[in-house]
Amino acid sequence: MLQEVPIPLRSFERWAEHATPERMKALQGAVASARARLQGRVLWMVSSTRVGGGVAELLHALLGYVRGAGIDVRWIVIDGTPDFFRFTKRLHNALHGVEGPPPSDADRRLYEETSFRNALELASMIRPGDAVVLHDPQTAGLAPDLARVGARVVWRCHIGHDRMTDDVRRAWRFLLPPLEAVHALIFTRRAYVPPELAGRSVVFVPPSIDPFTPKNQEIAESCVRTILVHTGLLAGAAEPAGACFVRGDGTPGRVDRAADVIRLGGPTLPETPMVVQVSRWDRLKDPLGVLRGFVSSPTLLAPCDLVLAGPTVHAVADDPEGAEVFNEVVDTWRALPHHQRRRVHLVNLPMADADENAAIVNALQRHAAIVVQKSLHEGFGLTVTEAMWKARPVVASAVGGIQDQITDGVDGLLLADPTDLAAFAVALRRLLEDPPLAARLGSAARESVRGRFLGLESLVKYAELLVLLPT
Ligand code: UDP
Repeated sequence: MLQEVPIPLRSFERWAEHATPERMKALQGAVASARARLQGRVLWMVSSTRVGGGVAELLHALLGYVRGAGIDVRWIVIDGTPDFFRFTKRLHNALHGVEGPPPSDADRRLYEETSFRNALELASMIRPGDAVVLHDPQTAGLAPDLARVGARVVWRCHIGHDRMTDDVRRAWRFLLPPLEAVHALIFTRRAYVPPELAGRSVVFVPPSIDPFTPKNQEIAESCVRTILVHTGLLAGAAEPAGACFVRGDGTPGRVDRAADVIRLGGPTLPETPMVVQVSRWDRLKDPLGVLRGFVSSPTLLAPCDLVLAGPTVHAVADDPEGAEVFNEVVDTWRALPHHQRRRVHLVNLPMADADENAAIVNALQRHAAIVVQKSLHEGFGLTVTEAMWKARPVVASAVGGIQDQITDGVDGLLLADPTDLAAFAVALRRLLEDPPLAARLGSAARESVRGRFLGLESLVKYAELLVLLPT
């Protein structure tokens, strides 16, 4: 029932390429203390999916270094029925402030039963003193049973809302009972901590990226083009050998699968500026708003294409709304006049091979003239950090963690009101018409990420937290 995700071995010494000697020393010290504290005990990471979304992305990026540091870390993915994931998706949405029906008694029963079954299986592998980090609401219900068998349990909340609405309060009320059992909590931002948890042991760790993964590694411009030609996203002749990248485990990789694209004509021409949003098919990412805002924009007077890309709609097990949302986007696109439809490409990216998927996202983000993240709510936008690291000008909503990621006009452009489609269109036009501004924002963006959002900082914080857990 539980799945264990293989973790490759990575040497954290390679961070020296992007970090000062002082930060490297801090990392080495923190890791040595954590190793001494664990003394051969296992560090378990528990999440609800191995692909798709920010949590999977983070774990793929970080855990190899933890293993490389001599810590026995394992990554377990829980199991649940479609009903369970439909309910946890509602919980997720409610924590983002989305209105919806309150959890019912039947929802609570389903949540507790599923959590119990998963905890029972995991408990058979856990020994007293092992540390367990549970990620997000899907896994919070395992906390009491795992604590009971002697695990030191941490809950990592990747989401949140800046305001305490009724829906947010109800979702927290649902989650607070199992959270009583945890020894420490990790949040992305202070504003996301509900008052009931404020007195507990809380650590703040913003999500980070790994510059060496297939998602973020440097790739030559010719390689970017070849990957996009190969996947059917860019016009041109595909060179057979060019679509190469380095896999997460250090072995050579090649992009072989094509994307599933809905469009009117052919792929985008290489010289046509591309506006790109890469996201799960989720209403909170507002793909419909991006589509409507883009086509309403006078940018269309100059040729410019929009690529809305996301995972193949059936690939993300804990996100059952994907297919529905994608269909809404397709329906809206079909209703557009011909000249607008021609400029928009709706892309389902192949997910069979996570490294290949990441290499395609990397190429798309690097090729983009502008990267957009027009979310209505966002705990923290990993796609924003990814694009900033690639020195892309980003237009994103001033919501949630994105407000910590971008300083408006300095290292990107923020949309004060994400529902203001006219302002969105103006921001796109501003960047397309002013290449020096776009370049300035892009290079400032890369430096902002270097100082704050690279994985090294998360590794230090996780290591420090492990030391603080009760023995
Ligand atoms: N992502 C991906 N393939 C896709 C769509 C998204 O690899 O087809 C990745 C994206 O690059 C980012 C993560 O999924 O690393 C999404 O994280 P984010 O914080 O932006 O949003 P979340 O999905 O966690 O709400």
